Amino acid sequence: MTETATRSPRGERYDPAPFEQKWRDRWEADGIYAADDDDPRPKRFDLTMYPYPSGDLHVGHWYAMTGPDIVARMHRMQGFNVMFPMGFDGFGLPAENAAIDRGIHPAVWTYSNIDNMRRQMRLMGASFDWAREVVTCDPEYYRWQQWLFLKLYEAGLVYKAMGIVDWCPKDKVVLAREQVVGTERRCWRCNTQVDKRDLEQWYFRITNYSDELLSFEGLDYPEPIKLMQTNWIGRSEGAEIDFATEPDDVEAIRVFTTRPDTVFGATFMVLAPEHPLVSVLTTDDRRDEVEAYVADARRETEIERMSTDREKTGVFIGAHAINPMTDERMQIWIADYVLPGYGTGAIMAVPAHDQRDYEFAQRFDLPIRYVVAPASGELPEGKALVEHSADEVLVDSGEFTGMPASEAIGAITRALEERGQGSFAVTYRQRDWVAGRQRYWGAPIPIVYCDEHGPQPVPEDRLPVVLPTDVDFAPTGVSPLQSHAEFLNATCPVCDGPARRETDTMDTFVDSSWYFLRFCSPAFTDGPFDRTKVDEWMPIHLYGGGAEHAVMHLLYFRFFTKALRDLGLVSIDEPTLKLRNQGQILGADHNRMSKSRGNVQAPDELVSRYGSDSVRAFLMFVGPWDQGGPWSSTGIDGIHRWLGRVWNAALPTEPAAADIGSEAEELARALRRATHMTIDAVTADYEDMHFNTAISKLMQLTNAITRAREAGLAGSKAYAEAVEVLLKLIAPVTPHVAEELWERRGGAYSIHQQSWPLADPALAAADTIELPVQVDGKLRDRLVVTPDTQAEEIESMALASEHVQRYLGGRPPAKVIQIPGRLVNVVTPRD
Ligand SMILES: [Zn+2]
Ligand SMILES: [Zn+2]
Repeated sequence: MTETATRSPRGERYDPAPFEQKWRDRWEADGIYAADDDDPRPKRFDLTMYPYPSGDLHVGHWYAMTGPDIVARMHRMQGFNVMFPMGFDGFGLPAENAAIDRGIHPAVWTYSNIDNMRRQMRLMGASFDWAREVVTCDPEYYRWQQWLFLKLYEAGLVYKAMGIVDWCPKDKVVLAREQVVGTERRCWRCNTQVDKRDLEQWYFRITNYSDELLSFEGLDYPEPIKLMQTNWIGRSEGAEIDFATEPDDVEAIRVFTTRPDTVFGATFMVLAPEHPLVSVLTTDDRRDEVEAYVADARRETEIERMSTDREKTGVFIGAHAINPMTDERMQIWIADYVLPGYGTGAIMAVPAHDQRDYEFAQRFDLPIRYVVAPASGELPEGKALVEHSADEVLVDSGEFTGMPASEAIGAITRALEERGQGSFAVTYRQRDWVAGRQRYWGAPIPIVYCDEHGPQPVPEDRLPVVLPTDVDFAPTGVSPLQSHAEFLNATCPVCDGPARRETDTMDTFVDSSWYFLRFCSPAFTDGPFDRTKVDEWMPIHLYGGGAEHAVMHLLYFRFFTKALRDLGLVSIDEPTLKLRNQGQILGADHNRMSKSRGNVQAPDELVSRYGSDSVRAFLMFVGPWDQGGPWSSTGIDGIHRWLGRVWNAALPTEPAAADIGSEAEELARALRRATHMTIDAVTADYEDMHFNTAISKLMQLTNAITRAREAGLAGSKAYAEAVEVLLKLIAPVTPHVAEELWERRGGAYSIHQQSWPLADPALAAADTIELPVQVDGKLRDRLVVTPDTQAEEIESMALASEHVQRYLGGRPPAKVIQIPGRLVNVVTPRD
């Protein structure tokens, strides 16, 4: 580090080692970051996502957490009563898998990791309020989660049902749809391709909130998150149409279509092989073939079935349906490209206007009828017409022929409605959230099963249902709790007879769906949270975290908040008003940091080499916070040298000579202007989380201070003001060195409790010129401009003046003459 150290004029170089730990200890002992519920100043809840305690705190954590820490620190100095808490997402697969790999009990492993990560987070110098810490695997926490689960259960927002679920064969666990990633359908955690299984599952009824979750009104969320959530929920408008069946007319086949205007072109029907009507409608002569096909389809993965480039397969089941508009008989087929979990699991096939239906019709020689055509009337040859245009009209569609397609959607739906065979409908891609896991390391689901009384909630006074520690937690596909007799055996709350305990545990995303509420009253023992405190602190003012949570945590915590509101437990509609996603810190080689690439930067090591302040400031300087950037050792050296210059500039010096001369006066004025402009700019940058540009402005101010020192200004008031402002402005980014220098200059402890500097607009203003504005040579107004205001802008300012307009009377001027820096003359037109 010697090469980057900088010597101050008095010989003491910047070396953070002796004071960083000292200050952290003092801040914590004094509780200067503790949020006091009774503090009368306006409350502000800033939050960064709590981590999984799955190992070391890495540079990515530092990066994600330092940004919100800076904002929280500034808010505190701005006079807000800031709550900036931290906790640990203690349950879940990462902890359990790691524990299994290492042969340590998940609890032992988790809590020792938490100890280590807590130590590492303290090393960051982050201003977390540790008195509010929440650890989700503590029984005091999950007790109230079980309580909330039962409230949701009573309200019908939690239910148990059979379902085809996504199953990770490696982790041996059910996954939520959100945890199945990409077109190859891989496990979000271990990247293994996911299977399907039929299991009885616990669900949260998140789909009750699909429409409300689509509204982002009043929310300051990044556009990509809004788009991902919107697409995930996947609302589409259209019609449900019932197709009567032959020969028995057992039950109509219901389909959903976004294009009811194409119903005249429906020439056959396709059911998913799993559709419940298949066995009912199949004729005896087709049964063997149909059953063989159904068995084959169940073995395929969804990705195979949805693949567009494979040849279409299918079987005619011998039955027919009736097209409700044409009264024509249509063959009913089954095909694996129709999936049971989408829509109604049945489609009306319109081969002329759907590519897959077209290929299917070609393969099996089924009729193809075009019913929509562009205004030109030109129809494609040998393919489906799938590109729709605004001017398209219906053809070959009975009484609707010639009607614009956009109009026909409603007209045909209404016609179907009159016949009792259809209605306007909306469908969603979103499904209910699979809430249970067949794993050990999670909050037990507080339900018992009695032979006589069925599933029964565990009574409130018997909560928490404690997770036993003495189990064999190796994964087998069923919860290890199933072999724990003591846990299994329970009492039915209705009859006091023997009952069996539910052995599924809750998805870890349930834990993170309400942890922010617990922060408001972490020690509350009469409920999950103290309603009055939640009303005071919530919603979160700024929530920082990763965009990878877009359709999981960031959707679930919105759902939970709305559900708890409907239970009357909270008053808010949304958990946070402002969300920001950090980017990613890459290795110096511009690749993702990974042990195998050898490009990982370990925070502990960096801190011992450079000090925490340099690491924090460098991470925030790498690039825009929401984008990230690569690690650079020359970059952090540069930051370290900058802090060396700050050190030199701020160390107190001997008083200056009394007479500093007129040239120095001019310099002092310039320094004051730089100081006050920097206050405004940096404050705005921090609030917008543009830390990199803030730091570069702080570097410029440091340079201005250094120049002033060289010019002999070190003892002046302007100099003292500049240094004081600089230290306050760097305090959120580099809290230790700011405190150390503040103390050495005789400032009152702590700098982090000082008030944020306010810019004097007069001092911050750039030089201005007053420009006379003439109309036909007579002075009528004056404009205030800066030396770099463009001529074009001056002209429009002059023309906008009401004094000038009085003479123009709405007419355009004949011409506008400018003498740069001297005057503007507007010449009126001759009548
Ligand atoms: Zn997996
Ligand atoms: Zn019973």
